Amino acid sequence: MSENEWKFATKVIHACQSPKDWHGGTLPPIYQTAAHRFDTAEELSDVFAGREPGFIYQRLRNPTNQVIEQKIAALEGGVGAVATSSGMAAVANSVLAIADSGDEIVSGNSLFMSTYVLFANVLPRFGIKVNLVESTDLAQYEAAITGKTKLIFVESIGNPKMDVPDISELSKIAHRHSAPLIVDNTLPTPYLFRPIEHGADIVVHSLTKFLNGHGSAVGGVIVDSGDFPWPLDKHVGFKLSKERRPAAPFLDKVWREIHINFGTTLAPMHAFLTMIGLDTLVLRMDRHVANAQALAEYLSSHKKVKWVNYPGLAANPSHETAKRQFAGLGYGGLLTFGLETQEACFGFIENLKLTYHLANLGDSKTLAIHPYSSQYVAFTEEARQKLSIHPEMIRVSVGIEHIDDIIADFDQALK
Ligand SMILES: *Cc1c(COP(=O)(O)O)cnc(C)c1O
Repeated sequence: MSENEWKFATKVIHACQSPKDWHGGTLPPIYQTAAHRFDTAEELSDVFAGREPGFIYQRLRNPTNQVIEQKIAALEGGVGAVATSSGMAAVANSVLAIADSGDEIVSGNSLFMSTYVLFANVLPRFGIKVNLVESTDLAQYEAAITGKTKLIFVESIGNPKMDVPDISELSKIAHRHSAPLIVDNTLPTPYLFRPIEHGADIVVHSLTKFLNGHGSAVGGVIVDSGDFPWPLDKHVGFKLSKERRPAAPFLDKVWREIHINFGTTLAPMHAFLTMIGLDTLVLRMDRHVANAQALAEYLSSHKKVKWVNYPGLAANPSHETAKRQFAGLGYGGLLTFGLETQEACFGFIENLKLTYHLANLGDSKTLAIHPYSSQYVAFTEEARQKLSIHPEMIRVSVGIEHIDDIIADFDQALK
């Protein structure tokens, strides 16, 4: 049986393993070295010139990182990947490899905090115009696209707006305009949803969240489907990369031009820690999903809770799209809910005993935060509105503890 025929739960553990090369070890060695030694000048020249594969210097490539790159590419159904120092490096690099000064991008406005700041405030300084549209409104994307639009960007579940755009329809719109579709798939992970199977061209992840699962390291990854044709009349800058790596010009460009020169290297130790976490992805996600669904239903029936936003609830505006599009295994581990006031949210957070109050998600532990007064404290009221950051909103990353204990903790804190 070939690796391609394995079920996801097997692939996540066994894909791209080569214990023979690791002296029989079950995990890859951590190549904790800044550079690699060569015997002859010819050998080093061959690797620098790309005539031979090999490792030169950690900022360029690292053998430990290569294992996680190949593994995530296999899980997402891509032809290859570049691991990065963080999820934000993956987001920034993928956009910078495609859009030049004078170009435009169109993005759903339901974005992770730093992605929003990068798009709304930072990219415009470099001459890249970002048109933000309502993430689930296909007509708005179509209307925002101009002759200068080089890519479309969207989150497969918006963090923390929890909305789910239709990726197949969005990829059709993008492709009609010769633009690739980049999907940030951090919240569902490839276990619940694989955007490339729905027409996406590039998938980015924060490795820090569910893929690592233990809050032990920061990292990111960019996966290339290899399917986008990069027509040169629109994507002029891809000429050399198409010649150098015809099967994956985007990977060539993002690696050679952006990743190496911006220095967004993933620490090999972080790749190693993430690989330990990946082994249990399926078990953890099944539990995250079951617990999130149960907590969402409990909160929906609580009289002090004004509203609950979780795509797994039948009445949620994104439920139908998520149900049709995802693999049928659930709706992720993140949810938001509303109390009467900001003061009530502060009181709730202070009374939590089991749940950790911190700024992360995707950990085995249940985590809660009041985004309005923390991550978004310096945002304008207008930006908070756009991102659906309400003063009376709590965001919860539902962990994998016993659900009875999670509910009991919420129940006593709500009292
Ligand atoms: C956390 C997150 C990121 C950024 O990842 P880092 O590893 O923190 O840089 C990007 N997108 C989404 C959806 C996230 O949740």
